[in-house]
Amino acid sequence: MKKPEDKKNSRRDLLKFGLASTVLAAISQTPLSASVLRKKEEEEKVRLLSTNGKLVEVDKSEVTKVKWDSKDNSTENRDRARKGIEGRKWVLVIDLARCKHALACQDSCNKHHHIPGDRQWLNVYKMQDAEDTAPYWMPKTCFHCDEPPCVSVCPVDATYKRDDGIVLIDNERCIGCRFCMAACPYSTRVFNWGEVNDSPEVQAREYDPEIGLPRKMGTVEKCDFCPDMLRQGKLPNCATACPNGVFFFGDKNEDTVTNGNETFRFSELMEKKAGYRYMEELGTEPNVYYLPPVDRLVPFEKCDQQDKHDDEEHKQ
Ligand code: SF4
Repeated sequence: MKKPEDKKNSRRDLLKFGLASTVLAAISQTPLSASVLRKKEEEEKVRLLSTNGKLVEVDKSEVTKVKWDSKDNSTENRDRARKGIEGRKWVLVIDLARCKHALACQDSCNKHHHIPGDRQWLNVYKMQDAEDTAPYWMPKTCFHCDEPPCVSVCPVDATYKRDDGIVLIDNERCIGCRFCMAACPYSTRVFNWGEVNDSPEVQAREYDPEIGLPRKMGTVEKCDFCPDMLRQGKLPNCATACPNGVFFFGDKNEDTVTNGNETFRFSELMEKKAGYRYMEELGTEPNVYYLPPVDRLVPFEKCDQQDKHDDEEHKQ
């Protein structure tokens, strides 16, 4: 097995080689006739990050896909991760009427993905549109958009959309340019700024994008819908951990979603409970849906007080 440092070097070397040759090819173009020049100008351009951190624009035809090291032991995991789970189209429905800000979803997500305390893949926000409207809690994950702006801006194909709907990141390919973070209109991506504090056991694992471990410093990460759990026929960790049944996960192809205790037809749930998607007007086609916070199970103030109480208990 390759040492983590060797893998990192080979990734950087490949990228360096791929980008450098692309930039050189663009610079070394010989003078062309006027008609050829016009044709060239009309060619589709792509923007790449050069090895000295500058953004360069080159013709798409001059870009060759960088192949990763075929001897890399994690290649199999990464190939499988790109394909996704056949025949599925994953969807998440979040029932805002049930959320009491228990944060069991976040705790479980952090634990399962070994997320350090300085960042979260799942956040629960207090929402209130105006002083005279009712506040409510809103859990927010990656929306696994069908038209993901994060994917189209990635210069090295490190983040991708799978056939089963999941948007995943290959941290072995990620160069940490953070274009995807800027492109995501929902700010769901986070960056590994510091040293990785994963346990030696985690660091010794073979890299798998479906688990996102071992974590890599200087790369981007986010909610992944727990594909490793889905492959075992289980629900994502947030759905299993929530004591209030807020998260309904399922397959759009089967038209079924469940929180582990209750199961519904996805289409019926949307129709009967007036399901909607966050910031629909952006055209990103999210695969996370919300049910409005009506007929709340518990008043918001009570949730807030409970939260303060939990905080105080935590400090003791
Ligand atoms: Fe990408 Fe953001 Fe959509 Fe997730 S929510 S798929 S990170 S654009």
